[in-house]
Amino acid sequence: MIVAILGAGPAGMSCANACLSFGLKPVVIERGDHLGGAQRSNFHPNLWMLGFPGETGEQMTTRLAAHYRELPVTTHYRAEVTRVAASGDGFLLTLAGAEGVRTLSVQAIVLATGTRPRATPALERFAAECPRAIIGPLSDSIRDDIRDTDVLILGGGDNALDHALFLAERGNRAVVCTRARFSARKPFIATCRARGDIELREHCARPELGHGNERVTAAWANEQRAFDWLLVMYGYLPNTDVLAAFDPAIRPALSAGGYLHVDAWQRSGVPGIYAAGDITDTPQPSVPTAMAQGLTAARAAERDLVKS
Ligand SMILES: Cc1cc2nc3c(=O)[nH]c(=O)nc-3n(C[C@H](O)[C@H](O)[C@H](O)COP(=O)(O)OP(=O)(O)OC[C@H]3O[C@@H](n4cnc5c(N)ncnc54)[C@H](O)[C@@H]3O)c2cc1C
Repeated sequence: MIVAILGAGPAGMSCANACLSFGLKPVVIERGDHLGGAQRSNFHPNLWMLGFPGETGEQMTTRLAAHYRELPVTTHYRAEVTRVAASGDGFLLTLAGAEGVRTLSVQAIVLATGTRPRATPALERFAAECPRAIIGPLSDSIRDDIRDTDVLILGGGDNALDHALFLAERGNRAVVCTRARFSARKPFIATCRARGDIELREHCARPELGHGNERVTAAWANEQRAFDWLLVMYGYLPNTDVLAAFDPAIRPALSAGGYLHVDAWQRSGVPGIYAAGDITDTPQPSVPTAMAQGLTAARAAERDLVKS
C-alpha cells in the first residue's frame, strides 16, 4: 500500500515515519530542494516542543531531518504534482520536476504542504523590485548582518513582534505598524512596549512606499521616514494551490478560511485523501501539532486501507 505524502515539513516527515511503522510504503513529494518546511530557517528558540528547551527551529529541523534521512523513504525533491485522478482502488499522480515527468500509482494521499507568507499583490510587487523589502520571516542568510539599522515592520501578530525584539536585541531600531490592534501574545506586546528601540503603532494606515539608495521610504499622512529594511509580516496562507491538480470529483473541500477541512482522523472527506499540519484548519499550528497530525493521518490510512 503506497501513500503519497505531499510536503516534507514536520507533518510530512512524521507521516512518512509513521507509515513505515504501520506497514505502509510512503513516497514523499517535496516542491523545494530541502527537508524541514517552515522551521528550517527559524532562529528563535522553539516554544512548543517539550523536552528541548532553547532549541531553535533550525536545530529542531536538523534533528528531525537527520532521523528522516535514515528512514527507507523515497523522496522526490523539486517535484510538483500536476494531476491527480481516481484510478482503481486509489489514485494516479502525475509528477513533473527535476526527474522529468512520471506517474505514480498510490492508494492514499496525505496533503502536508503547510503555509506560505501572506502579502498584498502591491507589496509582492514592491518586494520584487526592492531587495530591502522582505515578505515573511528574515532568512538565515541575512538576519545576522542586520545591525544598527532602522526597520519598518508591517503586521501586528507574534511574528512581527518576535522579529522586532530579535532586531532590537542586536542594536537595531524597529517601528511596528498594524492597521488595527496588536494581536500578538500579551507578554510580547509588554516587552516591546518597555523598550526604547521599538515603537509600536496601532491603528496605523499602511504607508505609501518608495525605495532608492538602498533605503525604503514610508510616507504617512503627516510624516515621511526612511528605513533600511521593510519586513511584511501579515501572517500565512495555506498552500492549497496543488488542489487545482486534483480532478474535481476527488478535490477535498476547504474551510471558510481557505484551509483544508479534516476530521479528528485527518480525513478530508474524500476517501483515501488525508491532510496534516498547517494546511489544515488546526487551532494551534506548531511542530508538535503537525507531527501528531502526520502520525494520525498514517494511522487513518492504515485503518482505512489495510483493515477494510
Ligand atoms: C516564523 C514562524 C515561527 C514559528 N515558531 C514555531 C515554534 O517556535 N514552535 C513550533 O512548534 N512551531 C512554530 N511555528 C509553526 C511551525 O513552523 C509549523 O506549525 C510547522 O512547520 C507546520 O509543519 P507542516 O509540515 O504542516 O508545514 P511546513 O513546515 O510549512 O512544511 C510544508 C512543506 O511542504 C512543501 N510544499 C508546499 N507546497 C507543496 C506542493 N504543492 N507539493 C509538494 N510540497 C509542497 C514546502 O516546501 C514545505 O517543505 C512557527 C512558524 C513560523 C512561520
